[in-house]
Amino acid sequence: MSNSINTLARDAVKAIVPYASARSSMSGGAIWLNANENALAPEYQLSGSFNRYPSCQPKAVIDSYAAYAGVTPEQVLVSRGADEGIELLIRSFCEPKQDSISICPPTYGMYAISAQSNQVPVNIVPLTADFTLDLAALFSTTPKLVFICSPNNPTGDLIPREQIIAVLEHYKDSALVVLDEAYIEFAPQASVVDLLPQYPNLVILRTLSKAFALAGLRCGFTLAAPDIINALKQMIAPYPLAEPVAQIAAQALTAESVALMQTTVTTINTLRAEFIAYARQRSGINKVWPSNANYVLLQVDDAAACVAALAQQGILIRNQSSQLGLSQVVRVSIGSPAEMQALYSVMDDYFNAPATRQQASFQQTAQRERA
Ligand SMILES: *Cc1c(COP(=O)(O)O)cnc(C)c1O
Repeated sequence: MSNSINTLARDAVKAIVPYASARSSMSGGAIWLNANENALAPEYQLSGSFNRYPSCQPKAVIDSYAAYAGVTPEQVLVSRGADEGIELLIRSFCEPKQDSISICPPTYGMYAISAQSNQVPVNIVPLTADFTLDLAALFSTTPKLVFICSPNNPTGDLIPREQIIAVLEHYKDSALVVLDEAYIEFAPQASVVDLLPQYPNLVILRTLSKAFALAGLRCGFTLAAPDIINALKQMIAPYPLAEPVAQIAAQALTAESVALMQTTVTTINTLRAEFIAYARQRSGINKVWPSNANYVLLQVDDAAACVAALAQQGILIRNQSSQLGLSQVVRVSIGSPAEMQALYSVMDDYFNAPATRQQASFQQTAQRERA
C-alpha cells in the first residue's frame, strides 16, 4: 500500500526534505533552549462557545497589531504564524518553475522549503564573512522575492539599513523585498517599518511566536502596501485563524500585555549579555558571536558531542553545523534565569571534562538513540 501511495505523490513532494523543527528533531529534556521561544510567558484564558466559523481577518487583532506596529489596518495580514506569510508570498507572487526567490544563508530554513514545495527555484547568495549582504552577488539574481532576515536567525546580526535600502532601490520595479522581523522586539530600533510608505515593494514579516511568548498559538503578521495585502488575501484559506487563536492574540496585543512583553525582552537582553560574557571566558568555547535577538551562536570543538552531552543533562540546544559556513556551531536560546543557571553548571561540567570523557558521553547517547 505505501508503495502505491509513493507512486501517486507528486515528484515535488517526493523530492522534499522537510523542515526539521526543534520540536520534531529533539524531544524530552527539561530545559528547552533550542527553538528561540520565550520562557517568560504570561497565562491566557478563553471564553465562550466555538460553534461559529471565525473571522478570516479578526478586526480586534488586525487593529491592535496595526497600532502596535505603527501602520494602518489595510497594511496588515494575520496568518497561521509568519511561516504561512512566507508560503502565501511565494504562492501569490511566484509562477512555479519560472519565477525564483533569492535567499542569503546562513538564514531561516523555511524560505527555501516553501519555495521548493511550490516548485519555485531558489537563488542562494551567501552572506559575507561578517554576515552582511553580498550586494553584487545578490544583484546578479533576478528574483520575484528577496528574503532578508534581520535580526538574522541563526546568526543574530542585524542587516545594515543602508544595505536594505540599496536592495529596495535595486528591485523597485521587479521584485518584493521581504524583511523577516521575527525577532525585532529584541532590537526595535532596527525595524524598517518606517520605510513602508516610501517603498511599495517592501514586505515585513512579524510573529507572536518569539518575544510575545506565543509559539504555541501559531499567529503571525505580514505588513505591506494594501495592494500586496489584498493579493495575499486572494490566496489565504477562508478560516486561517481558529477563534481561540484570535481571542488570545487580541489579549496579547493590549497595551498592558505589550508592556509586559517589553519587560521580558529587557530581562532576556540582560540574560543574553550575561551569557555572552560567560561564554567568552569559558575555555572550550572557541568563538561567541554578538547577538541582537534571544539566542547566541557558539563555536565549539565538536558541536554534535556538545549538543548530545547537554541533552543528556536535560538541556536542549540546537546544532547549526549543517548551515552554510557554520562548522561546529551551536545555537543557544536564552531561557529563564533559573534555566540559564542550570545551563552554566552543565556547560562548566562539560567543558571542564577531558576530551576523552566528552567523547565517551557522546557515544553513550548515540547508542541510546539507536536502541
Ligand atoms: C520562528 C521564525 C519564524 C516563524 O514564525 P512563526 O510565526 O512561528 O511561524 C519566521 N522567521 C524566523 C526568522 C523565525 O525564526
